[in-house]
Amino acid sequence: MTEFDLIARIAARAGRRDDVALGIGDDAALLIPPPGQQLVVSCDTLNVGVHFSIHDKPADIGWKALAVNLSDLAAMGAVPAWVLLSLSLPKADEAFVDGFFDGFLQLADESGVALVGGDTTSGPLSICVTALGWVPTGMALTRATAQVGDAVVVSGTLGDAAAALHLMGIPTHPVNSAARELRDRLHRPVPRLSLAQALRTRAHAVIDISDGLLADLGHIAQASGVGMVLEADALPCSGALAALFDKQTRLRWQATGGEDYELAFTLPPARLGELRIALDEHDLPLTCIGRVVEGSGVNLYDGQNEPVQFEQTGWDHFIGAAR
Ligand code: ADP
Ligand code: MG
Repeated sequence: MTEFDLIARIAARAGRRDDVALGIGDDAALLIPPPGQQLVVSCDTLNVGVHFSIHDKPADIGWKALAVNLSDLAAMGAVPAWVLLSLSLPKADEAFVDGFFDGFLQLADESGVALVGGDTTSGPLSICVTALGWVPTGMALTRATAQVGDAVVVSGTLGDAAAALHLMGIPTHPVNSAARELRDRLHRPVPRLSLAQALRTRAHAVIDISDGLLADLGHIAQASGVGMVLEADALPCSGALAALFDKQTRLRWQATGGEDYELAFTLPPARLGELRIALDEHDLPLTCIGRVVEGSGVNLYDGQNEPVQFEQTGWDHFIGAAR
């Protein structure tokens, strides 16, 4: 296959939509943003050997490449609309591209997102997605507006993806249902788009957890000029994680592991009940894990009120992992 065969193959699967005046095929796409909205844009790269393994299923890689970008839009309270995909491939591998798009377009369809363009080059396997969405003017949720007295809340469960990554390093580990559940959390993260909508009028500050809870909440604390106090015993834990690992190991992954792509946010404590009611049908646990205080930094305490510390609070591409 040539570069243009590949692009034609991609274009054939991309579909059409009213808010796309011109999609794949010209020098650039022409998009029709709704009036009264601000455009929200984000991009994230996935490199082989860093963000995924060459042994991962192409459909999982496609899903995740889109999911991590939609998670960034969710963290801004945005509705996703369009994506661009830059693919660098060692060779024009039809089977890889078809599998990749199975996963990518499955999530795009589920999330109401249209693929409107991209770039295809030869080189080491690397995937860069640019996601565009919108938010009513002035309604975006940022990291900079947490307030003293807010509750700190996290969606879903924490530490599952880090545990799955650990299990992938032990090929002899039995693939039971708990291990499969963890692996799904690593390979198929679900961007919390409905929660994001519900947070728009209720939360003060939001971030998605990509690098590790403590590291990511640290960004909110710093941007907002506040501190946070968290309870280790309150961090939400999946049944699968509890079934396979002891408390100390779990806690390290929950606090520093990252890649769960849950949302962490702050809001006045009285609004949490109302938020739960608004989200009722979505079956997503929301757990209060601490509070926003005066000062700086994010401090985690155990059941005896002793501070819990880790060598690293999360993943840094130029330092490495806390795993
Ligand atoms: P140009 O040389 O003008 O940059 P390309 O040949 O790179 O154009 O791309 C042709 C069309 O195909 C463009 O509309 C571009 O957005 C689209 N395209 C290329 N690669 C991809 C891809 N991986 N996914 C989606 N659209 C793509
Ligand atoms: Mg191009």
